[in-house]
Amino acid sequence: MRQSRTLIPTLREIPADAEIKSHQLLLKAGFIRQNSSGVYSYMPLGRKVLQKIEAIVREEMDKAGAVEMLMPALQQAELWQESGRWYTYGPELMRLKDRNQREFALGATHEEVITSLVRDEVKSYKRLPLTLYQIQTKFRDEKRPRFGLLRGREFVMKDAYSFHSNTESLDEVYQALFEAYSNVFRRCQLNFRAVIADSGAMGGKDTHEFMVLSDIGEDTIAYSDTSDYAANIEMAPVIMEYTKRDEADKELEKVLTENKKSIDEVSEFLTVSPNQCVKSLLFKIDEQYVLVLVRGDHEVNDIKLKNLFNAGIVELASQEETKEILSCPVGSLGPIGVSHVEIVADHAVKAIVNGVCGANEENYHYINVVPERDFSVSQYADLRFIQEGDPSPDGQGTILFAKGIEVGHVFKLGTRYSEAMNATYLDETGKSRPMIMGCYGIGVSRTLTAVAEQYNDENGLVWPANLAPYQVHVIAVNMKDEEQVKLAESIYTDLLEKHYEVLFDDRNERAGVKFADSDLIGLPLRITVGKKASEGMVEVKVRKTGETFEVHYEDLFAKVTSLLYTL
Ligand code: ATP
Ligand code: MG
Repeated sequence: MRQSRTLIPTLREIPADAEIKSHQLLLKAGFIRQNSSGVYSYMPLGRKVLQKIEAIVREEMDKAGAVEMLMPALQQAELWQESGRWYTYGPELMRLKDRNQREFALGATHEEVITSLVRDEVKSYKRLPLTLYQIQTKFRDEKRPRFGLLRGREFVMKDAYSFHSNTESLDEVYQALFEAYSNVFRRCQLNFRAVIADSGAMGGKDTHEFMVLSDIGEDTIAYSDTSDYAANIEMAPVIMEYTKRDEADKELEKVLTENKKSIDEVSEFLTVSPNQCVKSLLFKIDEQYVLVLVRGDHEVNDIKLKNLFNAGIVELASQEETKEILSCPVGSLGPIGVSHVEIVADHAVKAIVNGVCGANEENYHYINVVPERDFSVSQYADLRFIQEGDPSPDGQGTILFAKGIEVGHVFKLGTRYSEAMNATYLDETGKSRPMIMGCYGIGVSRTLTAVAEQYNDENGLVWPANLAPYQVHVIAVNMKDEEQVKLAESIYTDLLEKHYEVLFDDRNERAGVKFADSDLIGLPLRITVGKKASEGMVEVKVRKTGETFEVHYEDLFAKVTSLLYTL
C-alpha cells in the first residue's frame, strides 16, 4: 500500500483525554478515531490488525469444530422478554422503537437470538451437539466507557454458543474451546492466564475468564507463584489452617475505647495486632440480616457469603439499619450477647485467643475475647478474600496478585435459556428435554487494545509480526531523488510480488517525519532507501530491537525473510 494513497492520520501530540498507553498510541498512530464516547472508527491500519486477530479466532474456532454464522444486531424485544432479561439487563441494553412503535434492542449478546433459532431448527438429539459462532459488533451502553477500545459502547466480539443433549458433551466442547482460546491468545502473543471466575446468579456452573496480565486491568487475579493456578480473587478459596496462639484464656473485660472505631485505631490504642481483633459487619442477605465476623486483618468476600447463603443479593447494612437491628453504631459491633441475629464467622476467627471485639455499645470494646466461650456462631466458613502470601488453593506455592484485562470468557450455561425459552429436543426415547448450553466470548477489539498495551515503547507501537498491519515499511528518504525513488519503487513491487505485506512511504515529507511516523506505526521491519541508493545499498531496521543492517538490494529478500522468521 502506498502511504500517499491511504489514510494514516498520525498526530504529533498525545490526545489529552487518552489515559493509557494503547489508547494514546492507537490514536496517535492513526489506527482509530473516536466518533462518540465509547464509539470508534477503525482506520485502515486498525482495520487490518482487527482482521488479523479475527482470522486467528476463525482458524482456532473452526479447528475446534465450531461453525461460523451471522445473526442480526437488531433484536426484537419479545425474545428478551421471553428470557426475562428485558427486565433485568438494565440500562446497558440499548433499546429503540421502530416506526410502528415496536420495541427492539441492539444486540449486547446473542443468547436469546441463538436459543430461539436453534429451538426452531433443531428437534432431535441426533443433531446435537452443535456449536455456532459469529464475529459481530455488539452494543452496550456502558456506564463508564473508557480506555479506547478496551471498554467501548460499540465493540467487536466473537460469541459462540453450544447446544448439547448431555453434560459430558458440554464438558468436551467447553474443553475444546478452552484450548482454542488459549491458542488464540498465545498466537496474539499475549501474556495471559485462564482464571477461575464467578458464575454469577444465572445458574451457570464452570466458568473461566482469560485475563491478560496488565497494570491497567480492572480485575485482580490471584495466582500461584509455582503452579498454573489462577482465579479471580473473589473466587479463590482460602485453604489456610489456623493455629491458636499458645496462651491461657483470660477473663473477658469491657474497656473504654473512646472515639476509636476502625480496626487500626482500636488495635493501636489497645496495643494488640489487627490479627487479634474480630471485625464484625452487619450484612443484609436477601431479606435476612446476618452478622459476619472476620479477623481484623482480613476482608469479607461477599461472593463467598452469597454462595454460603445461596442468596441473590448481598449488601452491607446501612448505618440506620445497623442502629435499628443492633442498637449501636457501625464502629462498635461485636458478636457477644447477640442472639436475635444469625452470626457466621470466617475460620480464622475461631483461632483467636484473648482477642478484641466491639461491645455493641458506643466507645466500648471487649478484650480477652475467646470465641466459643464468649459467643457462638451458626457456622464457621471460608468467608474472606484470599491475600498475597496465602497458600495457593491447589496446594502448590504461594499466592501473588496481578491485574488483568478480561479478553475472553467461557461459560457453562446449563439450561438457563433453554428452559426459559422452551428450547427442547427429543431424546433417544422420544422424551422432550431442555437443551444444555454453553456460551463463549472473545473481545476482539479489546484484544487489539491488549496487544497494543503490551507491545510498545517510547517511540510508538511495536507490533508482533503476525498481527502487524503490514510486515515491511519501505521508506524513500527523499522523493525528489530519482535514484532513491527508482530503487524504492522496485523494492516495493518486488516485495509485493513475493507476497509480503508492504507499506511504502512515498509521501513528499521530510525524512524526520517519515521516520517518526514509521516508529509510531510500528511495523516489524523498515527498509530505508537513502543516500546509498546509487550503490544499491539500503538499510534494514528491526523495530523491536533497533538493530540495523546495511544490505545490498540483491540480498534484501533473503535478509527480510530470515529476519521476519525470527520475529
Ligand atoms: P466486563 O466484565 O469487562 O464488562 P463482561 O463480563 O461484561 O466483561 P462478557 O459479557 O463475558 O463480558 O463478554 C465477552 C467478552 O467481550 C469479554 O470477555 C470482553 O473481552 C468483551 N467485552 C465485554 N464488554 C466489552 C466492552 N464494553 N468493550 C469491549 N469489549 C468488551
Ligand atoms: Mg460488562
